[in-house]
Amino acid sequence: MNRRSRESNRRDSQPQHARSHSGPTRRQFLLTGSTALTATAVGLTSGESVGAENAATAAPPDIDPGFIGPQYFDEKERQALMEVMEQGSPFRYWGPGRPEKVQRFEEGFARCMGTRFALGVTSGTAALDCAVAALGVGPGDEVIVPAYTWWSDYTCVVHSGALPVFAEIDRTLNIDPRDFERKISPRTKAVIAVHLLGGPCDMDPLMEVARRRGVRVVEDCAQCVGGSHHGRKLGAIGDVGIYSFQINKMMTSGEGGALVTNDPVLYERAVRFHDMGTIRSLFLDRMGGPAQVPTFAGENFRMNELTGAVLGAQLTKLDTMVAQLHRNGEAIYLGIQDLPGMRLRRRPDPEGDIGYSVFFETADRAARDRCIDGLRKRGVPASTLVGSVLLPVQESVIAKRTRHRDWPTFNSPEGRAIEYGPGCCPQTLAIFDRFVQVRVGPKYTPRINDYIIETIRDVHHAAEV
Ligand SMILES: *Cc1c(COP(=O)(O)O)cnc(C)c1O
Repeated sequence: MNRRSRESNRRDSQPQHARSHSGPTRRQFLLTGSTALTATAVGLTSGESVGAENAATAAPPDIDPGFIGPQYFDEKERQALMEVMEQGSPFRYWGPGRPEKVQRFEEGFARCMGTRFALGVTSGTAALDCAVAALGVGPGDEVIVPAYTWWSDYTCVVHSGALPVFAEIDRTLNIDPRDFERKISPRTKAVIAVHLLGGPCDMDPLMEVARRRGVRVVEDCAQCVGGSHHGRKLGAIGDVGIYSFQINKMMTSGEGGALVTNDPVLYERAVRFHDMGTIRSLFLDRMGGPAQVPTFAGENFRMNELTGAVLGAQLTKLDTMVAQLHRNGEAIYLGIQDLPGMRLRRRPDPEGDIGYSVFFETADRAARDRCIDGLRKRGVPASTLVGSVLLPVQESVIAKRTRHRDWPTFNSPEGRAIEYGPGCCPQTLAIFDRFVQVRVGPKYTPRINDYIIETIRDVHHAAEV
């Protein structure tokens, strides 16, 4: 753990105020990662923060879960970065020396995920834009997106000119496969299966519906990098998988993203879109044949060598990060599952859960808030669901605002007719209101796990959930 985060841990945790209905902001999510639980929020310094009455139950000093990837930074990242600096080659395709960090990272990442191809890009958002471009999604098409997820799953569809159609989440906290099927129309081209909050989607029914109805599947693994579903790595199951390496996710380079696929034509289209429409020999060599797609207008989402250097080093530690988080997450689930009335997150494959957090359901919003309050008072990193947004109730979504008034997304007959707002996702809003999230740290000791278990047991009982 880095020094700053250790210092913040020394100050004891204090209660936070209940969250608003719209959920925490991105900023609050960031804070949850390291400093939201510190005493500074309520104006206390470390000496004053522990009152006599709760000194006996003071949280262990290292209960701040921290950001995951940076806790694994060491000589390996430093050495790889120095190689790029010393060669003076921060650009992936040419420069003095032999730049090959991004190329090696892509090869290693494809091996790790069990796919034929991987492409490094500048962010998870850019990877989604490439995925949608690879599938040829555009005006007149519809794409089904879960009602609770990160903005990028909505914006990639809007930027393509296609129409976003929301599906409900269920108690997996991921897309409800039955509602996905209900939302399919003759114009549906793809679904974005988001593996949110460290846990895989219910992929068996989802893939069955998608294949039967001819809908392409993008797996968004940004919040589940290294997770799996019945032994297959997430991202390798659908048509295209995408990942984020932003600091809140798993392995990290601050910003960064990747796309994987087994399909050479989808890969070529993604590569072209990420590099102004061009394709370089490196990619043709990988695909083992001539180009199959004519040049078309693209973007510049190329990854640089400094990012590739850090990610190459982080990739060698991904299995360890996942194993350590998973071990702690499972220990906590195991310690609370027998509580009378305890309703855990439904998990289609607990083995594939990366253990980023544990989740349980309460009766209603008031019970949820009582629970969160009780846990935070005792220093446990509890909150409402964090890191995503209830998209259909966002003002800019309800207003269908785009970058230009004639943008095609909402100008088709279907786009003009569609109505967002709370009416299109009642199940999602109700689920959001009932769930408690407790963050998990990869470096937690059994003592910290036990402290969290005991505190959840006390609070769950007292909060009458
Ligand atoms: C973070 C995130 C993204 C976007 O990744 P960036 O690297 O931040 O652009 C996409 N989808 C989900 C579910 C995310 O959590």
